[in-house]
Amino acid sequence: MSGAAVPSSTSRTSGQSRVIGLVLLGASGRMGRAIEEAATAAGGFRIKGRIDRPQSQTAETPVVAEPLAPGDVVVDFSSPEGTMAACDLCVSAGAALVSGTTGLNTAQEGRVAATARSVAVLTASNFSLGVLALRRALQAALEVLPESWDVEIVERHHRLKADAPSGTALTLARDVGKLRGIPESGFRHGRSGRIGPRPPGELGIHAVRGGTWVGDHTILVAGAGEWLELRHVAQDRGAFAHGVLAAAQFVATAPAGMYHLEHLATGGRGI
Ligand code: NAD
Repeated sequence: MSGAAVPSSTSRTSGQSRVIGLVLLGASGRMGRAIEEAATAAGGFRIKGRIDRPQSQTAETPVVAEPLAPGDVVVDFSSPEGTMAACDLCVSAGAALVSGTTGLNTAQEGRVAATARSVAVLTASNFSLGVLALRRALQAALEVLPESWDVEIVERHHRLKADAPSGTALTLARDVGKLRGIPESGFRHGRSGRIGPRPPGELGIHAVRGGTWVGDHTILVAGAGEWLELRHVAQDRGAFAHGVLAAAQFVATAPAGMYHLEHLATGGRGI
């Protein structure tokens, strides 16, 4: 890592609307660049720091090391190790954290939860509003359909994605698991060989990788002689970036605590 930002106060434009200082962790990556582009277009944000691995630092994303302070937001789309560095940075500066990094292990998730005891933290495996709507639609469908209907999740992502299945596929699977009482040990990641009939209560998850797919999630719910398909396709990273900026605005003034995208849709109350 290089270019850690240092402490001061969140800026205001001549007593008018508040400008939120952002530090982008993973600034040179696909999401880091999309978020900076969206923040510049939206206005109301100032990039105070761009942090990346030294080998990924580009001329287009030079490090801006400005003081970081309470009211500023670290936006992390990097790697699980990067998320741990973001937690350190936020706790030491009293800045809020928005993290979309996926593939964290249990200990790393625990570290993020511990950070939320000091500062406001908002995490989401998918920042698009469409996926929030997809989760609600899935819940509504499963409330109507009997448990004998089989659920399978298929996700497609670009060839460079580091983790599988996607964080969003896991979130969807956990949503189904909660409604149907299926523990994570009932998640079946792909199938091969003479596996025999599908056991009741299994939940299939399939990760497809290739090309430049930004993010595509399909949930198949199959009954006898009929089936239902719910699908969300992210066509470009702007779909996530807008949710990230809304999250940054939310945590910039929120008290310490752990928040999720649902809090934005319900004015902070959660669902
Ligand atoms: P990417 O590989 O294009 O970019 C990641 C960047 O982070 C790279 O530039 C890399 O050098 C940098 N990085 C990694 N570890 C670092 C560290 N320890 N310190 C500093 N910099 C570090 O990946 P991406 O497509 O931008 O995705 C990044 C993460 O965000 C992944 O975990 C991905 O799954 C996740 N993601 C989440 C959402 C969402 O809506 N929650 C959407 C897209 C991607």
